[in-house]
Amino acid sequence: MALALYDTWSRTVRPFTAIEPDHVGLYCCGPTVYDYAHIGNLRTYVFEDVLRRALVLNGYDVRHIVNITDVGHLVSDADDGEDKMEKGSRRMGASAWDIAARYTEAFMADWRALNLLEPALWCRATDHIAEQIAFVAELERKGYTYRTTDGVYFDTGKQDDYGYLTRLDHAGLQAGKRVAVGEKRHATDFALWKLSPQDSTRQMEWDSPWGRGFPGWHIECSAMSARYLGPRFDIHCGGEDHVAVHHSNEIAQTQACYGTRLANFWMHGHFLTLDAGKMSKSNGEFLHLQSFIDRGVDPLAYRYLCLTAHYRSKLSFSFEALGAAQAALERLRKVYSGWPSGGVADEGFVVRFNAEVNQDLNLPRALAVVWELVRSDLPTATRRATVDRFDAVLGLRLTDWKVGEFDLPDEIAALAKEREIARSAKDWERADRLRDVLNAAGWKVEDGPCGQRVVGG
Ligand code: AMP
Ligand code: ZN
Repeated sequence: MALALYDTWSRTVRPFTAIEPDHVGLYCCGPTVYDYAHIGNLRTYVFEDVLRRALVLNGYDVRHIVNITDVGHLVSDADDGEDKMEKGSRRMGASAWDIAARYTEAFMADWRALNLLEPALWCRATDHIAEQIAFVAELERKGYTYRTTDGVYFDTGKQDDYGYLTRLDHAGLQAGKRVAVGEKRHATDFALWKLSPQDSTRQMEWDSPWGRGFPGWHIECSAMSARYLGPRFDIHCGGEDHVAVHHSNEIAQTQACYGTRLANFWMHGHFLTLDAGKMSKSNGEFLHLQSFIDRGVDPLAYRYLCLTAHYRSKLSFSFEALGAAQAALERLRKVYSGWPSGGVADEGFVVRFNAEVNQDLNLPRALAVVWELVRSDLPTATRRATVDRFDAVLGLRLTDWKVGEFDLPDEIAALAKEREIARSAKDWERADRLRDVLNAAGWKVEDGPCGQRVVGG
């Protein structure tokens, strides 16, 4: 079955075809690095990673770009309030540049812990100020901008189809005109370049044709995606909150500059919620990956939990659900590591698994296929080889996971114990024979000064 994906633009699941055969350009909006990523943010990156792995499964060479927002994302989406970076700097008593470096590093550590594939390129907004200024200048030249006392704004009234992605209700907005828009011409207009306040200096600011200041948040993604993927590429992703404002504005800018709607497919991950409601970095009340590690939970158990819910449905987080995910992952590892290698994958199961993945990334159904295989009576070596194929999409690191001696499968633990007894009785011949049996079952035996250690091969 060919890959079909839900496209927010058309509001349909439709067959995926690449603009250029065999190649896919994939742009994912990255983190705003004023604090740790919360587990909600990370759910979106897990979804995007599964998407990338699904594209690879279908034979595509994927060019995956992720940006790092280290300037310009204001506390309010309505273009006012403080820059989140400058606010983070005050909170932490460190410079905005140091905050950005610290949380970018923390984000990349989370990325690796969740076994997310490294993007072709990480791009920072502050490394692309010239591109953003050039983009705004071009929009100005084409007549899409106007100036106010605090910056340069995009005039959304110049585009009849502004907000199509979010099915914006233009008539409703007209009726709601009483809403104060300040110097803006329309409530939906947004900042392209903000001038530094006259009464204070910002830590991050640059000269521009309009005065000293900093770029608006949306322009970085239009400018950097155009630079690295061209003005029209295959897939653009983010969380569902990006549909109404950030992505609608990215489309408006790129449409005005290049006449394209940026990406062929727009895909959005739905939110992870807490029982208490929305999780937010800005109110400082959130769980991050380290909160799990501190409780002895493997980060990959969180990845497993994300796979149990379809990316287009809400996932309500609880520690009970995380515990269940951890138990399921441990069970999978345990059975898997007890199976010998050297088998050949069962194509029937592979086809069924791939069909679920290709049906708009239906990972909950794909996981059901995994467990059906585990419980099947196929030879264990066949099951192992089949799970290896699955894990290329699941990303649970089943293949390179090393079991410690405390969680050996029962039959291996029994053999290891027998060998320990033989060693202490100095029955070297028997100990060697048992080592050969363990090796043949795919286990390595290391003899050290403190006794033997049996590890997955
Ligand atoms: P930010 O760091 O706030 O710019 O967000 C990074 C990514 O996380 C974006 O793609 C957001 O859409 C996404 N996101 C924010 N909150 C959540 C949430 N609760 N659940 C899932 N994704 C989220
Ligand atoms: Zn973006």
